[in-house]
Amino acid sequence: MRAAAALALLLAGCGAPTAGPTVLLISWDTTRADALGAYAAEAHWGLELDPNLRPQPRTPHADKLAARGVRFAWALAHAPTTLNSHTSVFSGLDPHQHGVPRNGFPVEQRVPLLTERFAAAGWATVATVGASVLSADQGLARGFQAYDDQITTRVRKRFERPADQVVDRLLQQIDAVPAAQPVFAFAHFFDAHSPYDGAPPDLQALIGVEGYTGPVTGTSENADWLVVSARAGTLSVDDRRQARALYLAEVAAMDRALGRLLAGLERRGRAKDSLVVLFGDHGETLDELPARAYGHGLDVHLVNLHVPLILAGQGSLACGPAGAVIEDTVSLSELAPAVAGCAGLPSVGAGRDLRAAWGAGLPPAVHFAEATKGGKAPPPGRWNNLRTARSATDGAHHWVVWPAEPRAALHLRAPGQPPVDTEEPAHALERALSAWDEAAPPYREEDLSADQAEALKALGYIEGR
Ligand SMILES: [Zn+2]
Repeated sequence: MRAAAALALLLAGCGAPTAGPTVLLISWDTTRADALGAYAAEAHWGLELDPNLRPQPRTPHADKLAARGVRFAWALAHAPTTLNSHTSVFSGLDPHQHGVPRNGFPVEQRVPLLTERFAAAGWATVATVGASVLSADQGLARGFQAYDDQITTRVRKRFERPADQVVDRLLQQIDAVPAAQPVFAFAHFFDAHSPYDGAPPDLQALIGVEGYTGPVTGTSENADWLVVSARAGTLSVDDRRQARALYLAEVAAMDRALGRLLAGLERRGRAKDSLVVLFGDHGETLDELPARAYGHGLDVHLVNLHVPLILAGQGSLACGPAGAVIEDTVSLSELAPAVAGCAGLPSVGAGRDLRAAWGAGLPPAVHFAEATKGGKAPPPGRWNNLRTARSATDGAHHWVVWPAEPRAALHLRAPGQPPVDTEEPAHALERALSAWDEAAPPYREEDLSADQAEALKALGYIEGR
């Protein structure tokens, strides 16, 4: 009888649907690589601060993901702006190829997207975004069967929702999919964007500088004060520490939400065959560049471009050796071919397949980036960003050009991007960057609704206004 009962139980178990495979893309907006514990040893900011007083990242869930997956130590964004950068992730193309100069220029229909690959192969495709800058009318909803951009939280004219709410909504979307169906899901966390005052008090206390009794900087009420004071050179070391701590607390809040999301997948049986991809869309200048402090978009300093990128697959979606760290310079636009490839789908985009990093090795490539604010107007009819700061980066050097000034400099691709005075790599990178710019598309006219313009302006995203 006991054996029969066991067999009955086993058969009953066979009747329950096995959860389908799950690919989960998570973007952490405005997140520098060094804001994660897994990257902190490569920190390129705060180098001059006493290490004992430097606020430390608290990202245990992302760090665990890195430990069981592949971590790209030098992943770079093509542009320090949200829509532009996310379009590179979903299209596998750089900005000159996908034609989105900055926020408010919707992705054109001609650009194939990773999501469409999954939808065409029968996967359920669901997304929840955390800020209006990625609203469905901006073009990245294409291919998603469900794309939640309904953001009701409006703080100081910002349209955003905290990562916790994004997680709740995304899990509801996944629950609406038949259990056995494969799911491609995208979660966009916006919390780390300035002002840096959204983290729960316990996380702020965890990271905050012990003994600090000065004003709390970087809050909604005084975010502008922080920028103005940095430009005026009147920020104290304590102010700087506090702003960093608050920024890291926002990242810690996203990490806590990540933990909830991964636990949610686990409970639904969807972790067994899963590929989890975590990336930052661009970085953030804190106090490294006083004239451009506490923001992004104005320059291509590595603090604006260097982002976390982690791929952690398991079961039928295993993808890369556990715990591997890839030191090559790679581009966010090179993520799509690897994600499609890990899921057995046709590639998308024009970049290298990052899976070669743990196979035959990645062929050499130059990464290009351009700022999306500042600079001067382009020559008539030419690509919108041609006279903003721009850069070319290989495995060792970071070449930066400010065409409007004009000025150029060669740096090491290293923490703090120290300047170097070597002629040859500068010439090679200069030639590569010129060729990239020569092939840029023509000028693109802005086409914004009044509502979208207001929302972007509130986020500080509309240049020169
Ligand atoms: Zn962004």
